[in-house]
Amino acid sequence: MKYALVTGGSRGIGRAICLKLAKMGHHILINYTSNEDAALETKKLVEAEGVSAGLLKFDVSNRSETRTTIESWIEVNPDSQINVLINNAGIKKDNLLMWMEDSEWDQVLDISLTGFYNVTKAIVPEMMKAKDGNIVNVVSLSGLKGLPGQTNYSAAKAGVIGATKALAQEVARRKIRVNAVAPGFIKTDMTDAINEKDFTSLIPMRRFGTAEEVAGAVGFLVSPDSSYITGEVISINGGLYS
Ligand code: NAP
Repeated sequence: MKYALVTGGSRGIGRAICLKLAKMGHHILINYTSNEDAALETKKLVEAEGVSAGLLKFDVSNRSETRTTIESWIEVNPDSQINVLINNAGIKKDNLLMWMEDSEWDQVLDISLTGFYNVTKAIVPEMMKAKDGNIVNVVSLSGLKGLPGQTNYSAAKAGVIGATKALAQEVARRKIRVNAVAPGFIKTDMTDAINEKDFTSLIPMRRFGTAEEVAGAVGFLVSPDSSYITGEVISINGGLYS
């Protein structure tokens, strides 16, 4: 059985990606770190699509926990393979650089950038062996343009964009594709505190996007319709920046 692992799959964009991939027929592994109720709800919704769903609880920034959990899953499921990886887990801790706490810098980099490394490093060897893999990294407009108040988040996402392009070239011959999606403002818990009305005049489409609209692009990148696309970043931002 072939599985798609979605980090931060319990809520928001990650949940929408789990459901999109489930509708496409993928079995799903839902990673989360603390919100068990949300993860269980996603599991139920995925199973309703007629595919299998498993929960993998680990903090992507904790290298040993990430490795142990993924390696144990691979060991007890020798007939299964994780052939799709969506690196979606992320947080933001916004502050101007001059006021930024060291912990705000460290946590954002540890989860978004080092988290990408920790998870991908644990999965890629299996994809290389199988000569079958598809990785999509959820980055951000912030990593392309840079946003004030987000030097930590912009740096983390820009780092993942660089890693996407480098890794795509390393593994292409093994039939593994690596791409990224860069959302703008999307309605989730992460943007709950932002007043949509304060920003819509800046967005040509005059609205925030939905998690499902991000998941649609991820579904395309995972599907054979994008079979000659690798090392690419697709913006999903209502025309805010290109
Ligand atoms: P969200 O609603 O806050 O959900 C975050 C998800 O990440 C949750 O599933 C959470 O798990 C998980 N997570 C957080 N820290 C983790 C860790 N250390 N290890 C494993 N999982 C962890 O956020 P979202 O808006 O869906 O964002 C998803 C991704 O899209 C992030 O990478 C974010 O940077 C990116 N993005 C979002 C927007 C936006 O406007 N929303 C725009 C651009 C990019 P728990 O449920 O266990 O807490």
